Amino acid sequence: MTIQLQCARCAAVYATHQVRYVCDCGGLLDVSHDLEALRPELNRHLFDGRLEGAPTPDVAPTINSGVWRYRELILPVMADAIVSRPEGNTPLYHHPRISGWVGLDALYLKHEGENPTGSFKDRGMTVGVTQARLLGAQAVACASTGNTSAALAAYAALAGIPAIVFIPAGKIATGKLAQALAYGARTLQVAGDFDAAMQLVRRVCDELNVYLLNSLNPFRLEGQKSIVFEIVQGFRWRPPDWIVLPAGNLGNTAAFGKALYELKHLGLIESVPRVAAVQAAGANPFYQSFQGGFRERVTLQAETVATAIRIGAPVSYERAIRTMGWTDGLVTQVSDAEIMDAKAMVDGVGIGCEPASAAAVAGTRKLVAEGTIHPDQTVVAVLTGSLLKDPTATFAYHTGEWPDAAYANRPFSVEAELGAVQSMIEEIIESSQ
Ligand SMILES: *Cc1c(COP(=O)(O)O)cnc(C)c1O
Ligand SMILES: [Zn+2]
Repeated sequence: MTIQLQCARCAAVYATHQVRYVCDCGGLLDVSHDLEALRPELNRHLFDGRLEGAPTPDVAPTINSGVWRYRELILPVMADAIVSRPEGNTPLYHHPRISGWVGLDALYLKHEGENPTGSFKDRGMTVGVTQARLLGAQAVACASTGNTSAALAAYAALAGIPAIVFIPAGKIATGKLAQALAYGARTLQVAGDFDAAMQLVRRVCDELNVYLLNSLNPFRLEGQKSIVFEIVQGFRWRPPDWIVLPAGNLGNTAAFGKALYELKHLGLIESVPRVAAVQAAGANPFYQSFQGGFRERVTLQAETVATAIRIGAPVSYERAIRTMGWTDGLVTQVSDAEIMDAKAMVDGVGIGCEPASAAAVAGTRKLVAEGTIHPDQTVVAVLTGSLLKDPTATFAYHTGEWPDAAYANRPFSVEAELGAVQSMIEEIIESSQ
């Protein structure tokens, strides 16, 4: 095996066939690849070649999947061990109305909501559940604000392994909870917030032969690196100037930095894009730490409409700081009102995303307005989840329950009578001209 687990804090190494999530020193672990050994083997041609030819059901997921296409840089395993839907291969949208609203010409939206269960979490889960099966886990578990549990439930069902999800009671979007139940996960509603559920699940997994698939799990982050691999390959290996993403537990922020570091060290890219992590103002511990030069690790009680990033004590804090260093990255914050208006823009052109995802667009707009991102730069904003995940937030915005909704599209009420409907439609056509 060319991979090891390595502590992000003290560099101690462990074998990957052991069940281990943290170092003896308390630091989180990385899957560490032997980049020197890989360098002669890996080149742009190899990955481009795998894109050729239409995907067919009888082709191994190593070709069909936007994760396993990059398997040498993720988890080198035999094809028949892989648990895959397949995932990835998500579109990169460009829409003049959104670009104009944000203040850029070259804004691209990488839509991770178009993964099999509707979020980027599928990319991590295909790797995490594959590893769980290799380790012979009796069950898999996670604590989740929603999308992780939906992805875990689906991939565990595919692998035939029982899944247990810990969910903060009443703090999870309807679409996500429905998915966990539908895919057959045993769902524990914990009376407490996400951070409390997280502590409980860690204790339980330490005691039992249950494999923990929260974002502290290093294998999930390996899968999530493929978002960056796909972006870069989509730009023909000439990366954009910026990659902007919403940040909650900071797993993705950590994965993006690691992906870019590895691509650079393998000579697959020449320049490294800057990574901008966007937090909700009511859930901004990483932003506060960044403002203080990372001298202090801030934690807080989080509150935001964007439930996927409602996190006060981010798990991948240290690994995400590394991303800031490797990519000349930065952290910004946006209000819930800015998030929901950005979401209405993305939704309104027919693309659509969940609230947390819109933070990436709102954050980009803010960074352009401040002059941090220049109008002639190329930016990829990552839409992390699907519009369908959180119908409650969308509905509230458009029906007047949301304060200061700039782009609300209120439903009309009308008598069931032809004349009334006709004159209403005439009005609608006139007002949209
Ligand atoms: C998980 C998630 C996030 C946050 O990602 P982290 O890795 O926890 O920072 C953002 N948006 C959506 C839709 C998510 O599911
Ligand atoms: Zn250590």
